[in-house]
Amino acid sequence: MRLAKCTYGKVEEYLKKSDMIVIPVGSTENHGKHMPLGTDFLIPDKIIELLEKKNDVLVAPTIPYGATDTLMGFPGTISIGVDGLIMLLSKVTESLRRYGFRKFVILNGHGGNNKSIETVGMKLYKEGCLLADLNWWSMVGELNPDWKGGHGGGEETAAVMGVDPSLVDMDLIHEPMGLIDDIDPSMKTTGWSTVDYKGATVIIPREMIQYSGNGWYGKDAPDTATQEWGKEMLQSFTDWMDDFLQSFAKVELPKLPE
Ligand SMILES: [Zn+2]
Repeated sequence: MRLAKCTYGKVEEYLKKSDMIVIPVGSTENHGKHMPLGTDFLIPDKIIELLEKKNDVLVAPTIPYGATDTLMGFPGTISIGVDGLIMLLSKVTESLRRYGFRKFVILNGHGGNNKSIETVGMKLYKEGCLLADLNWWSMVGELNPDWKGGHGGGEETAAVMGVDPSLVDMDLIHEPMGLIDDIDPSMKTTGWSTVDYKGATVIIPREMIQYSGNGWYGKDAPDTATQEWGKEMLQSFTDWMDDFLQSFAKVELPKLPE
């Protein structure tokens, strides 16, 4: 049930039987030359669409912006930063708390959002609430190791194909990852803000555009993606989420010292 389509009277009715709400959060950011900028919220939106067929949990409007400073520079990427997302999520959950919501389930589409989500989750915990952060892309890798993937790689490309195959540019899907050793020839770029120096990993925060020609990253090449994989993965996650929501509804809220 979408909050956006409810009257306030309907929300009042809902609160008599549940204090739980789902808040999808994504990001507007580059995912390689072959993928749309909305990848990180289009996928959660699709999961919600599938979920609605089996669960009548209330779902807040999707937040399409997140903390993605590392992907700035690729045209179209919008970052509200870690602090911006903390502020936004705090205000959204504060508003909802006023009416009696106590359990907040974040359906997250972007890894960079976790810091902000967990900060807000801890704040809510101290107020006697619970927040659950569901990172669909890492969780599906736990449900099936074959589905594990990176950023704009096979896993996410398959998921977007599961949303709408026309969103993936098949002419650009074969681009190699092509990491560049941008810091120094003695330091090999190994991943997201990381370099290897004499066998040990060092984190040097910087924009990805400095060390990647196209902005996809992972062990799972985008051209391994299929629509079938995407559909099966999104449905499996939705089924898992339906089970989780039913169990989470029964969980007791934290009892804090007076
Ligand atoms: Zn993503």
